[in-house]
Amino acid sequence: MKKMLWLAAAAMTVTSPAAAASLQESIRADMPMLMTLYRDLHANPELSMQEVRTPAKLAPEMRKAGFDVTEHVGKTGLVAVMKNGPGPVLLIRADMDGLPVKEQTGLPFASKAMGKLPDGTETPVMHACGHDTHITTWLATGRRLATLKSQWSGTLVMILQPGEERVMGAKAMLDDGLYTRFPKPDVLLAFHDSATLPAGVIGIPLGYALANVDTINISVKGVGGHGAYPQNTKDPIVLASRIVMALQTLVSRENDPQQPAVVTVGSFHSGTKSNIISDEAKLALTVRSYTPETRKLLLDGIRRIVRGEAIAAGMSDDKMPTVEIEEPSADATFNTSPFAEHLTQLFGAHFGADRVVNPKAVMAAEDFSRFWLADKSKQSVIFWVGGVPQAKWDAVKGDTLKLPALHSSLWAPDAEAVISTATEAMTIAALDVLKKG
Ligand SMILES: [Zn+2]
Ligand SMILES: [Zn+2]
Repeated sequence: MKKMLWLAAAAMTVTSPAAAASLQESIRADMPMLMTLYRDLHANPELSMQEVRTPAKLAPEMRKAGFDVTEHVGKTGLVAVMKNGPGPVLLIRADMDGLPVKEQTGLPFASKAMGKLPDGTETPVMHACGHDTHITTWLATGRRLATLKSQWSGTLVMILQPGEERVMGAKAMLDDGLYTRFPKPDVLLAFHDSATLPAGVIGIPLGYALANVDTINISVKGVGGHGAYPQNTKDPIVLASRIVMALQTLVSRENDPQQPAVVTVGSFHSGTKSNIISDEAKLALTVRSYTPETRKLLLDGIRRIVRGEAIAAGMSDDKMPTVEIEEPSADATFNTSPFAEHLTQLFGAHFGADRVVNPKAVMAAEDFSRFWLADKSKQSVIFWVGGVPQAKWDAVKGDTLKLPALHSSLWAPDAEAVISTATEAMTIAALDVLKKG
């Protein structure tokens, strides 16, 4: 539908210099209000699927801006729709959950919030992934696009998604009728703050952006007994150790070296005492890939190696290890062509080419992928907006391994730069997707 238009318009900015200046001025005027909101959200983070205060705070703001707002979509999600004549449907998503992390930033508005994990344990909560910048940008973009209503035509579907950190909120919203109860999107857009780009720099991965992530729990059975009589036992520690070593060959010997893959055994537990041979060993793995083919190769290979090693150790059929893939898994997030290339050019023309890069994909995960996987005919992009304060970036000469990562208790982005840049980028992207005629 928009393919030809995108290609034809590739080299042009959607906004004239005067319009760009006026957009920046409007965002600047909103900044004090937005930073107040940001600090409030930062001080009051909520755990995945328990976001109650956040959508309740944002709903009236979006109604005020002229959106039709529906709450409690996918438990705690929110959908704000603005119909504005004929044209495509654009979905803009912000995720809104915090993490079970004790904040150590020392910021005056640092979180002291506590929450309860699904198993009932009490935990400190922090916006350690920067989703508070996403929520604030979401409102800022909604306000801008409502004011600029005469300049676009089509439908805006702006969603606040719960439970990203547990990769379950996107599915919850889809299962609750996101694509049937509300206008079905043609184009999907989201952004994430970045701890590996300097503040205000935009990164658009081309193709894969984030990975497939599977968590695997393996229970290796043995036959326990006295440590002095190994001949009467089947030692699950020795068997599980063989399994761990054999798993290393999946990536090194079976996988195509051109296809990124990770198999990490992050946890190995067995036994209680030096002279007792235990009767079970438990392994927990994280398995990461981009393509469905690599994912299948790894998961099939794990099952085969686990069973094969158990047979080699002489385990009977009723004592074969069990391999369980923990739900939910995350599917890789893909930035489609030509939208990703087009946004690179659009943002480059608007912000200057030095503020726009095409970074490599990362092995972390996102459930934004689900909105596209639910209908692959759409165009979809998630882009990064750098949050590393310029002074910190300069101090380490861009070596971000020396700085706090996302999910760190020390992650303190330059929120003002993230929110203003992301709002400007989201607004011009939306004006471009929904341009008149
Ligand atoms: Zn995160
Ligand atoms: Zn995140």
